[in-house]
Amino acid sequence: MRMVAEPVERLIDELSRLPGVGPKTAARLAFWLLKSSDERANALADAIREVKQRVKHCSQCYNYTESDPCAICSSPSRDRSVVCVVEEPLDIRAIERTHEYKGLYHVLLGHLSPLDNMTPDKLKLRELESRIKQGGIKEVIIATDATSEGNSTAFFISRMLEPYDVKVTRLAHGLPVGGDLEYADEVTISRALQGRQVM
Ligand SMILES: [Zn+2]
Repeated sequence: MRMVAEPVERLIDELSRLPGVGPKTAARLAFWLLKSSDERANALADAIREVKQRVKHCSQCYNYTESDPCAICSSPSRDRSVVCVVEEPLDIRAIERTHEYKGLYHVLLGHLSPLDNMTPDKLKLRELESRIKQGGIKEVIIATDATSEGNSTAFFISRMLEPYDVKVTRLAHGLPVGGDLEYADEVTISRALQGRQVM
């Protein structure tokens, strides 16, 4: 005989697949959901379903968006001569929080990591190159994570963009070594933007 009803086991199992959620936390969340109102539990289920149905990648920058192109790409107040290259859409949120940056973005959807089979063709690198080819972009700020994968991705991009008449800079100053951009605070990211260096 089961100690816990099968649907509860299944919920714990699903929750424990979430990043940063261990089996103990998963169990606690599952029992909290059991105890909470139908409305609350359904709101969570609906939010998950809706995000999968309605949110897509922007066809220009690969940020998550409901409308294509995204709000940043279609905004008339953004500086279209600067593109900031990040690994994940989450990084855009981190940079936007600083209110320091007014240019456009390009999300790679990962970083180079040959061991995990993350080769250049798996990232939105060709798409970045074709944006540069179209012209109008004067500076590319590479804001990949300060990890060895983030650094080798940055190096790859700077080599890839060498033939083009574009200034390539890299966020460096103040970012914690080995750190994920998404966890850096606003002040650190602001300083890193101001102190970017030509690659
Ligand atoms: Zn976009």
